[in-house]
Amino acid sequence: QSLLNTISEGFTGETNPKTLYFIEKAVNRVAEAKEIISDLLDYELYSQNQPTTQEEFDIVVLVNSLVNRYASRAAEEDISLLADLPLHSKLVVSGDRRGLEHALRNIIENAIKYTPEQGKVTITLNASETEKVCQINVIDTGYGIPENERETIFDPFYRSMKHKSNISGTGLGLPIAKRVITNHNGTITVTSQENKGTTFSITLPYTKLTKIEKQAVERKKVIIIGSQKFDSGRSC
Ligand code: ATP
Ligand code: MG
Repeated sequence: QSLLNTISEGFTGETNPKTLYFIEKAVNRVAEAKEIISDLLDYELYSQNQPTTQEEFDIVVLVNSLVNRYASRAAEEDISLLADLPLHSKLVVSGDRRGLEHALRNIIENAIKYTPEQGKVTITLNASETEKVCQINVIDTGYGIPENERETIFDPFYRSMKHKSNISGTGLGLPIAKRVITNHNGTITVTSQENKGTTFSITLPYTKLTKIEKQAVERKKVIIIGSQKFDSGRSC
């Protein structure tokens, strides 16, 4: 890919437009191949029937960081990304933090990818103290999934005919997510209505739920209106 880029970026001299067209096509194919290889490696990595690593982490922090990470991507696509998270709770989940992050990323990316402009994606997280599970919902107002495809979308390489030609992908995002979630004794289900939207619901067992006390002293906003230079050269 870097050798092809060297040519297409003009470092080897001028290339005629026809040749350049084929070189750029080849560069894109290489990028697709790289994506497939990395998805296949991940799919294999999560094929053991247990989490690959065992650590304790706060799922509220994890989901909140994903919301922040995808806010700008959603905005670029003219999609509103909303979140309803229990930010004053600490919900400890035990397992492979990186794997679960990967699974949730795949589901959030799908929600953004399969929702047209001006749509809405909402991420919610709540805990059921009686069952000791937390539930994460990723709700979109997108294209929806036809009823006859709702089981097959979790099969490796399955991609809906409707999107195959116009939206890029490998068809490994959901199979990877399902493997990771079931390895954590969790579940993933989907409900959908065509052209109205889709909801992916994930449940995961948690080990500890604690409420974080609101800080006694509320934070104050400080606004600096101007600055003045002192003799020392420092500004205030
Ligand atoms: P990639 O491997 O890059 O994620 P992909 O998005 O096509 O490719 P999956 O994430 O496994 O693969 O999803 C499988 C199929 O399920 C998609 O091709 C799409 O047809 C359908 N799908 C998944 N999520 C949604 C969604 N939120 N709304 C509508 N269709 C969806
Ligand atoms: Mg996907």
